Amino acid sequence: MIECLGLGKTFASAAEDLTILKDLELRVERGEALAIMGPSGSGKSTLLSILGGLDRPSQGSVRVAGIELAGLAEEALTDYRGATVGFVFQAHYLLKDFDALENVALPAYMAGMPRRRAFEKARSLLSDVGLVDRLHHLPSQLSGGERQRAALARAMVNDPPLLLADEPTGNLDATNAASVRDLVFALSKKHGTTIVLVTHDPHFADAADRSLELTGGGLRPR
Ligand code: ADP
Ligand code: MG
Repeated sequence: MIECLGLGKTFASAAEDLTILKDLELRVERGEALAIMGPSGSGKSTLLSILGGLDRPSQGSVRVAGIELAGLAEEALTDYRGATVGFVFQAHYLLKDFDALENVALPAYMAGMPRRRAFEKARSLLSDVGLVDRLHHLPSQLSGGERQRAALARAMVNDPPLLLADEPTGNLDATNAASVRDLVFALSKKHGTTIVLVTHDPHFADAADRSLELTGGGLRPR
């Protein structure tokens, strides 16, 4: 599903160039759940951004689902994101004026799914994450754990082959973190989704199929 070869990322600034990723190698099988840990500032979010087509590598090759991302034009990169990637971040980024059902249905509807089907799909996913009796709650009327479960449902609504999750439980207490963690794995198993997730929680990382540590610009076994 993913193959990175000699991946490098350098941020240029007036003062100095900052090399964050260097000669990074990564292979992830289809359907695998990979966790990445590592100190703050080590480049975990940068790596996820590159895998998700939100940022570009400075060097090397990044193939995801058979697509080489390194040289892809902006429009093709947008298509890639829409067709291939679901994102969950530490913050939920739900739209505050839309209820849970609308928030989850919207990306499907925007991608061209008929309105009725988009809402059916959203309802079914919200049911999977235990929010079937919160469909018409606004984000402000949901708890932190519920918002993050809605964000997870939204990430899955277009059946992305790849789910990228950047500290999805970073803002949650232990009980809610455990619930989101279990749902991430349950939903992705159900849909055959490949996962790359970043976490500081060793329990989350241990529940993945494999976990690696990002340090010194590269990935090593933890
Ligand atoms: P992590 O997610 O592991 O905490 P990040 O990938 O967010 O780390 O950031 C890694 C390093 O790259 C940090 O030192 C950060 O300041 C730097 N960085 C990230 N994005 C940019 C950018 N757009 N421009 C310059 N430096 C950046
Ligand atoms: Mg980060």
